[in-house]
Order: sequence, then structure tokens, then C-alpha cells
Amino acid sequence: MASGDGGPPYVVRPPTAVLTRGFDPRLSVGSARPAVFRSSTYVFSSPEAAERAFSIALGRARPEPDENVELIYARLSHPNAEILEDQIVPLEREATDAAVFNSGMAAISTVFLTFCRPGTKFVYSTPVYGGTQHLIHQMLEPLGITGIGVPAGDTRALVRAIETTPDLALVFLETPANPTLVMCDLQACGRAATSRRDKPLVVVDNTFLGPVFQSPLLAGVDLVVYSATKFLAGHSDMLGGVVLGRDPALITALRGTRAVLGNILQPDECWTLDSRLPTVDLRMVRQSKNAQRIAESLVGHRAIATVHYPSLFRDPEQIRIRDAQARHPGSVLSLELRGGKAAAFDFLRRLTIARNAVSLGGVETLACHPATTTHSELSPEELDQTGITPGLVRISVGVEHYRDLLDDFRRALDALT
Ligand SMILES: *Cc1c(COP(=O)(O)O)cnc(C)c1O
Repeated sequence: MASGDGGPPYVVRPPTAVLTRGFDPRLSVGSARPAVFRSSTYVFSSPEAAERAFSIALGRARPEPDENVELIYARLSHPNAEILEDQIVPLEREATDAAVFNSGMAAISTVFLTFCRPGTKFVYSTPVYGGTQHLIHQMLEPLGITGIGVPAGDTRALVRAIETTPDLALVFLETPANPTLVMCDLQACGRAATSRRDKPLVVVDNTFLGPVFQSPLLAGVDLVVYSATKFLAGHSDMLGGVVLGRDPALITALRGTRAVLGNILQPDECWTLDSRLPTVDLRMVRQSKNAQRIAESLVGHRAIATVHYPSLFRDPEQIRIRDAQARHPGSVLSLELRGGKAAAFDFLRRLTIARNAVSLGGVETLACHPATTTHSELSPEELDQTGITPGLVRISVGVEHYRDLLDDFRRALDALT
């Protein structure tokens, strides 16, 4: 179904590959876009083919190169997932395999449940996405899987934790951090992990910058995770998650857990996400250019104490990491307003183009107040430590004209007393 044939016989660049590999129109009665295959079950060509498909699905046999293994049942895989998994690979530098999930959290939970056994530990950067934080404290810790949180920007502390934590199964990094945009050094963490004899896996949640601006696999990371809900889908109209890597065995293990949990991305969502892949690069570059113009123009406004944005970093360690691993600063910025929570709420109420909503990465501009929404599960100490203050507003910049957005933000800021 999702064979790589039908595309050019030579190696092409990612924006071309995403449009030419992984989908053979002959298998969709010639349609230029894939059909949506909504079947829950698949008819075998023979009982022997069914036996063979189950042997491979259950890990008793490995497929021969070029063997056409028949589909079984849509919880294990289906044609639209196979097409999407093939088409998304060229977007991530160095990736060879992908697995798709029905949300970013489904992808992240599946990674932890597949690679961390009770009694093992993992190191993670803080702050992490609110859902991931909840997963760590409310589900993994009660299962006896212990997380050791280390501030994202403290490279020495991260490396020390990775080098010295016993029974370390996994390192989970999110960079830049949400919503403060602090970055962590992927290469240093990758090196620390490979220096151990037990080689813990290094996994990066690359939702904020990737795959266009940051390539963790090139820095020695094992797996890259996305909330495809954000930039990959890009229109705030679906949920999805993806894991990509260069070791097929890791992706096969994830698919095995996915078959048990039943959290594969459904055919219609696969089709929708598939149609967004060719514009990921166009959208992300435009959104990042918009955000950079806005962030840099707002510096010095009397209502703002700090603009958090990668092109405005002052800390030499943060600048070093940014220059080493991020090709563009991205489209998320945070404003620390001088008037605390009241000013933040007032600002959100006054916006007319940007909408007050959580989430990010869509073509429309969204703004939210992390301390009372996305990060409201953090304790006062955790909020303080991670710099999520009452006056902080997070903005995800879309593809509107940046002058209109800047006018909207300036009008709202000027009105703050
Ligand atoms: C949104 C998000 C997630 C969770 O993704 P869902 O698709 O909402 O489940 C995970 N990590 C980051 C950084 C996110 O922004």
C-alpha cells in the first residue's frame, strides 16, 4: 500500500520527497490523493497469508526485504497510517521510520510505557508540557517509574544527572521549553547518554521547532516526538502525534504497544495530516519571520518587563545552544507584563486579532495565560523556579500580516495602565 515506489528513482530533497514518496496512486485506483480506507479489518488473500501476517505482527518472524505483508486489523495498522508514516519520514533529517498516534500525549505515553519498566528511572528537562508533567506525576511515578527533573538550561546538571542516575532507562528533553523558551543542549545530553554502558534512550519532544528548524537525530538523539496537532497539522483542526527515529526496532516496539493501547491515528486524521505535510516548511518559516519581527519590535514597550524569544537571548549558554541547534527562532514568544495577572488578563481581553486559546502552531495567532491554564498544575515553587510568573502571556504567531498583529498587540499594551 505504502510502498516507496512511484516516486523518482534517485534521492531528492525533503520538500520534494514529501510529495513524491510513500504513495502509489495505482493502489488508490489512480487518484492523485490517497483514498481514505475506513475498514476496521482486511481480507486475506489466503489462510497462509493470514498466518504469515500474524507471525510478523506478533514478532515471531521478520518480513523479507520487499515482502508484501498483508494488513490484518486497523488497530495494528491501516493503509492511511502506512502512507503517512512513509511520507513524513523525509521531513525529519536522518529518520528512517515513523509511527503515528492519535495525539501528542498518546505518542509520549507510548514512549514511556514501551521503554521504562517499573523500577527504572528517567531524567527529564523542566519545565515540560503540562500533559507530560501530569503523566510523570500521576501515572508513571505510581507505577514505580521515577522521573528526575532538571532545569532545561542547566547543561552541567543535566549531564551529571544522565551520567550518574542508576537504572536510567530514558532521557526525555523538551527544547525550547514551554512557555519560557529555555533551550537544552541536545548534543551534550546525547553524549552523556552514549557514554554509559547501558545506553539509555534519548527522546526529544521537538514540537516547538521541528522538523523545519531543529533536527535532534543529527545531534545524536534516538527518537523525536511531535504533537502533530501543532505545526505539522497547522490549522488547529485535528489531534495527532508522531514518533520518528533511525532504528527500525525502536519504532517496531512502539507499534507493538500502540496495537495494545489502541492509540493509532485514525484513517481520516491520517489523510488530513498527510495533506498538510507539503506546507509545513512554508508555514513554519512564515510564522517564525512574523514572530521574530513582533518579538523584536515589542522590546522596550513600557508595559513589558521581558520578551522571551530565542533571538533575544542574553545568557551566553543559551545563545551557544541556540546557535548550535536551532536554524530559526520559531513562532512562539512569551511576554512578561509589568502589571502581573491583572495586566495579563487585561491584555488578553483587549486583543482583537489574536484569540485567547491554548495550543499553538496553527495558521491563526493564539495567546494564553500559562500560570492559570496550561501550567496551573505546577506548585507555586515550581512556577517560580521555571519562570512562569503571573504576568506571563504566551503567544503563538500565525501567518497573518505581521503589521496587523503588531498593531493589535501594541494597542492592547498601550491601553494597560
Ligand atoms: C501540545 C503539546 C503536547 C501534547 O500534544 P497533544 O496532541 O495535545 O496530545 C506535547 N508536547 C508539547 C510541547 C506540546 O505543545
